[in-house]
Amino acid sequence: MILIDAHADTLHKMATGSPGMYDLSLDRLHQGGVSLQVMAMFVGESNDPDAIKALFDRMFQAAEQLKAQGWIQAMDPREADADTPRFMLSVEGCEPFEPGLHIIDDYRKQGVRMAAITWNYENALGTPACINQDEGLKPYGIKAARHMQSLGMAVDVSHLNIPGFYDVLHKTDAPPLASHSCCRALCDHPRNLTDQQLKDLFAVGGYVGVNFYPHFLVEGGKDCTIDTLIDHIDHMHQLGGAGKLGFGSDFDGIDKKPEGLDNPADFPKLLEGLRRRGYTQADVEAIAGLNFLAYYGRIS
Ligand SMILES: [Zn+2]
Repeated sequence: MILIDAHADTLHKMATGSPGMYDLSLDRLHQGGVSLQVMAMFVGESNDPDAIKALFDRMFQAAEQLKAQGWIQAMDPREADADTPRFMLSVEGCEPFEPGLHIIDDYRKQGVRMAAITWNYENALGTPACINQDEGLKPYGIKAARHMQSLGMAVDVSHLNIPGFYDVLHKTDAPPLASHSCCRALCDHPRNLTDQQLKDLFAVGGYVGVNFYPHFLVEGGKDCTIDTLIDHIDHMHQLGGAGKLGFGSDFDGIDKKPEGLDNPADFPKLLEGLRRRGYTQADVEAIAGLNFLAYYGRIS
């Protein structure tokens, strides 16, 4: 089975030398049957362009370190293989693209196939949901999003505010994805997508990777289980998400997990939970990875 996870923050953790245990390891991806792990290069908290550039350089170096340890980089999601885990690069926070569209070309050449317009800070492209819900994409944001799409790089709307989300939907050339987002109707957090956003995103052929962070799954993050996560998957299905959703764990970026879902080795428990909830084997395979591949088929 092809199993794809659309978001993890391991490279940032490596590049900043964060202490503590990592959620991800090649062994755990093998154990959990993960075929493709998207590894986000996450902008972090500095707004100094030189510091941001240095951080991204270190994250590219961290990706090289993984390769030296035997990890394989996929330059295209269709390289996903059931027996051998691969990783694919993404960007979370487009600050490094601010100097010009040529940087996007460079990143694409290095295998970056997905980029979130913002993390939690306003940048030259747009404004995140945690800052305001007033301003849409900036003119450079629209230009940059279209340029990414022309290169087969998915525009990621996780973290983006609602007007920016609709600008991506209405003013750019390909459906976006939300690599790690949940349902606002089930957990009222500004990072989550409203029912209207989800319906509109699915209607244009977008994709959502459900985030595993308990604080996005249930108010207060309390009593969060694998079933709580599956409630979000069920809800998205009711809004037209069949064929258009999967997983965006946020492993190595979250300090709490749903009970029993501590790291990628636990993915089989999540798949078993889906089967128990009545999803057929074909549904489970679609959610696990085929929907993600179908999305890339629509955009590149
Ligand atoms: Zn994030």
